[in-house]
Amino acid sequence: MRFKSLKGIHDILPPDIHIWQHIEGTARDVFRSYGYREIRLPVIESTDLFIRSIGETSDIVEKEMYTFLDKGGRSVTLRPEGTASFVRAYIEHHLYNEPPPQRYYYMGPMFRYERPQAGRYRQFYQIGAEAMGVDDPRMDAELISLLSEILRTVGLEGLRFEITSIGCKVCRPAFREALKGFLSDKIGGFCADCQRRYDKNPLRILDCKVPQCIEMRKGSPHTIEFLCNGCREHFERLRSYLDLLHIPYTVNPELVRGLDYYTRTAFEVTTDLLGSQNAVAAGGRYDALVEEFGGPSTPGLGFAIGMERIVSLLKDGFKVAEVPELVICFVGDEAAERAFLLAQELRLKGLWVETGYGDASLKSQMRRANRLGARYTIVIGEDELRSGSVDLKDMGSGEKTTVSLDAEAIAGELRKGR
Ligand code: ATP
Ligand code: MG
Repeated sequence: MRFKSLKGIHDILPPDIHIWQHIEGTARDVFRSYGYREIRLPVIESTDLFIRSIGETSDIVEKEMYTFLDKGGRSVTLRPEGTASFVRAYIEHHLYNEPPPQRYYYMGPMFRYERPQAGRYRQFYQIGAEAMGVDDPRMDAELISLLSEILRTVGLEGLRFEITSIGCKVCRPAFREALKGFLSDKIGGFCADCQRRYDKNPLRILDCKVPQCIEMRKGSPHTIEFLCNGCREHFERLRSYLDLLHIPYTVNPELVRGLDYYTRTAFEVTTDLLGSQNAVAAGGRYDALVEEFGGPSTPGLGFAIGMERIVSLLKDGFKVAEVPELVICFVGDEAAERAFLLAQELRLKGLWVETGYGDASLKSQMRRANRLGARYTIVIGEDELRSGSVDLKDMGSGEKTTVSLDAEAIAGELRKGR
């Protein structure tokens, strides 16, 4: 019987894994400077959690969720994103009692039943951040600068930061009416989903990916033209803080996010290098969500970075630095045992050391050392066992140094060469 991974779900193998580790390691360092702490959340939650937060009429809830009944007959869903779970945990563990801002980050897999294509998978990974308890737009600017700093330090360039404000419950109704007015005589030409959305949640029509809907909604009103005073001032201050921090951005009034919980600030980071899957990260404010979930009214905001998309942007220029420091070759049974023990002694000193198994010929052992890209090799034979010294060969320069056949001496020499 042969098994294959599911459609749209992938293994991550070396050498790619080194890029993943590089990104995750860099992100952790940057998060630390900004006062973010890690939180690990479950990948499975009750289905209602996502319906209530992301929204019934969103593409994610309507089409993309991995939902099933568990053996107890409860409807559960593999998380399609992190914020809903985060807010659930934030309330469940009373994290709002800590002094604000409470800042957390997470890394892990998300699941969406989408049509797999380049940059779009059914299991994909996100690095996400959430900052709670502060409505000051300095927090928005700080979060965007954190995102920018992570993307810059992992080695990405030429990304575009697009921002907008999508208003709040005060200004949303006027916008909604204006949008419905604009769409009223055209809605019959929209897709069936949009026709349903027209009454239930017309904002979602702006996020529809169907080409005919994109075409027909051209010239529709923008949220940014309907902001109440509070939202307008918030947005203007955000812009001035981004200028202060020297973060380049453009205002994109057409930007809408695919999730219902957003209020005010919404942003997306895009690139020209990935074809149609051009968003590498996205986020925004969700000032009403904690209260909607039954917690104390608490503003919040966050972002999520799509790992696969930034991995593919970094792939070409990425060099794998990790190779064994030493391959120990041997000739004869006694030398094989000596090599086996020596490898163990050097590993205990923290060095990546390889040796052979079975009775491979010296030639095949050397071939393996070359394939592994080993930095140094030694060959232990009868002479070396007798004399107690060995030639340490630098595989780059071909230079040989004689050292005593002893873990301490060899480790010292390897560390010198670093
Ligand atoms: P898109 O417009 O590409 O569908 P989205 O608005 O659905 O993105 P978000 O929910 O904002 O995406 O998720 C944040 C980031 O996660 C995206 O910018 C993207 O980089 C990544 N992402 C989203 N869905 C997928 C997926 N199916 N496969 C790989 N990465 C994804
Ligand atoms: Mg999507």
